[in-house]
Amino acid sequence: MHINLLGARVDAVDLAGAVEKVTAFVATGRPHQVITLNPEILYRAQQEPELLALINQADLVTADGIGIVWAAGVAGTPVPCRVTGIDLMLALVERAARERWRIFLLGAAPGVAEEAARRLQEKYPGLVVAGTQHGYFKPAPVAAGAGETGVTEWDVVEQIRAAKPDLLFVALGAPRQEKFIARHKQALGVPVAMGVGGSFDVIAGRVARAPVWMQRLHLEWLGRLLREPRRWRRMLVLPRFAWLVWRKARLGK
Ligand code: UDP
Repeated sequence: MHINLLGARVDAVDLAGAVEKVTAFVATGRPHQVITLNPEILYRAQQEPELLALINQADLVTADGIGIVWAAGVAGTPVPCRVTGIDLMLALVERAARERWRIFLLGAAPGVAEEAARRLQEKYPGLVVAGTQHGYFKPAPVAAGAGETGVTEWDVVEQIRAAKPDLLFVALGAPRQEKFIARHKQALGVPVAMGVGGSFDVIAGRVARAPVWMQRLHLEWLGRLLREPRRWRRMLVLPRFAWLVWRKARLGK
């Protein structure tokens, strides 16, 4: 089941439901995109029709954060709970280790994806890491072989394609990671690709996640703001997002 929130299709699933959907995607062998949608991106999509279209072309969209869960409730079409990028990634990695799915980690600063992979393999014995690649490569449209030095976006796509993973986690920050996946989905040929924001930094131990009590009180966003004050500017869209949702719900009645 799915709902419509400010023009975006959002799946009304919990974590277990999302893992089941991904399992079905892997079984088909065809490329799928998973998006964990947060209010910042949904707000931005109101001004960027291409971004909204991209969200609506994804195969699974979960409510990432309490802001989306709240908005769904205000709109009269509740979703069961939030399914964040890092929670879904960890649940999928656990399933991957059991099912022998190959995973690929793309993104974050040099060394971070490797360290995240090492820690995941420690935690989930048997996990097959098909490859890792940092996220500071030259973006398209740099033509392949155009005399550029360093890794280009084309090299990265080729590297992933050759590694033949079942799951691709992309940590380039939203919405760049979502655009990367959508742009290269067919060329990559990976059954499931999803953006995970700063998750590699957390898994590699570079950034701490908010304490569990804060997560339970739905204050994870506050924890992040306290740790990374530079985020305050990005968070200014949250009241605007809330106002938009509330106004739309009132006008719709
Ligand atoms: N990042 C990257 N390449 C870039 C810019 C950022 O790999 O050109 C990585 C960055 O190192 C970090 C992640 O993308 O690991 C973004 O994390 P953030 O928490 O900002 O994600 P968001 O909340 O924006 O989705």
